[in-house]
Amino acid sequence: MPRLLLATTNQGKAAEYRDLLKGLDFELVTLDQAGISQEAEEDYTTFAENARFKAEFYSALSGLITLADDSGLEVDALGGEPGVRSSRYAGDNAGDAERVNFLLNKLRDIPQDRRQARFRCVIAIAQPGQTTQTAEGTCQGYIALEPHGDNGFGYDPIFYLAEYAKTIAELPPEIKNRISHRGRAAAKARQLLVNLNGC
Ligand code: IMP
Repeated sequence: MPRLLLATTNQGKAAEYRDLLKGLDFELVTLDQAGISQEAEEDYTTFAENARFKAEFYSALSGLITLADDSGLEVDALGGEPGVRSSRYAGDNAGDAERVNFLLNKLRDIPQDRRQARFRCVIAIAQPGQTTQTAEGTCQGYIALEPHGDNGFGYDPIFYLAEYAKTIAELPPEIKNRISHRGRAAAKARQLLVNLNGC
């Protein structure tokens, strides 16, 4: 079975991809398993550029077909922030809870009906000597007034979905994977990977 390098050190993302890519004819290996400790820079201003750069960087390093993503949260009332800075929004050493509080604080004067936001994910698949391909997914919702739920990671406890009347962190992983930005991008990426494998 060909190997597919999953280029992330984010354990929450890695767990979701193991589920989302289940059943494909690839053996999934993480950066750790491939013995790679170098970090790719994420200095671009779009998710697509960052995802593409990461996938090509790790593919060149490993010689493997490589799947990388870049994802984040865009809040309309903040002009699309934190966007590509989602993981560093409250500083480089902050954790998920601090980022959530930092964002809630920025939105403290914004009422519920003006808290629209979306998660965005771009997946890039790179292979040495081949053109890199990308797939995108989005998930539309609102920023809640306070955190709810323990599932998922990152901003999930404050990302509210009106159709479920719950935050993503209150939903089981099967539902998140079906409707999330990453789930939607991964459904398209599956097809790209099937075509790559020629079966
Ligand atoms: P990346 O590793 O540069 O793609 O960082 C993405 C950041 O965006 C994460 O660290 C989270 O803060 C946020 N993010 C992306 N996807 C999700 C998600 O599915 N749930 C919650 N937060 C997410």
